[in-house]
Amino acid sequence: MGTAENLEALYVSCKNCTGQVPTGLQLTGAVYEIPADREHELTCPSCGTTATYTKAQFHIATS
Ligand SMILES: [Zn+2]
Repeated sequence: MGTAENLEALYVSCKNCTGQVPTGLQLTGAVYEIPADREHELTCPSCGTTATYTKAQFHIATS
């Protein structure tokens, strides 16, 4: 904490349309403490599909 650098937002790829779905999380040390098998229910802003994702599917923005 305390640095001014921009943190990378984490996304998953929508299981329906492969669009980027924001996880609401950022690439911080706290992410490493999330259990790998915890399920995150997220809704795609592009197609409205709600699905569950795990940390293994998180990635930073690719564009
Ligand atoms: Zn979608």
